Amino acid sequence: MNGLANLGLEYVGFGGWHVMHGLNQGFRCIYCGRDFLASLNEYDSLQLDHITPQSCKGESTKENTVACCWTCNHLKGSYPPTGTTREERIADSRHYVKARRSTREAELAKIRLFVRRDSPTADDQTPSG
Ligand SMILES: [Zn+2]
Repeated sequence: MNGLANLGLEYVGFGGWHVMHGLNQGFRCIYCGRDFLASLNEYDSLQLDHITPQSCKGESTKENTVACCWTCNHLKGSYPPTGTTREERIADSRHYVKARRSTREAELAKIRLFVRRDSPTADDQTPSG
């Protein structure tokens, strides 16, 4: 963490738990593994998640927080994970997020197919000419 402070960065704050957890997690989402350093969009999607949600009396502590992407944070919502240890609660949350993500991915595939009937995915499009 201290090494980062010497890089002369203008926008990245230090001392925040999201940066601390990011460093501890290799700047990857704890739930889906997304690489926060792959692009600015990915970096800006980094959020602090309360493993046990605040709505379930989860505390704002280092022990109860992780770095995750916006999508996983949104999909996890106020889900109260089971488990007696931090790692067990993270694993349970990961399982829950993965299932919800799968449902959302299927919905997105249907929308994509409806809107872009001639091209299954935007990535498959190659510029012509
Ligand atoms: Zn994620």
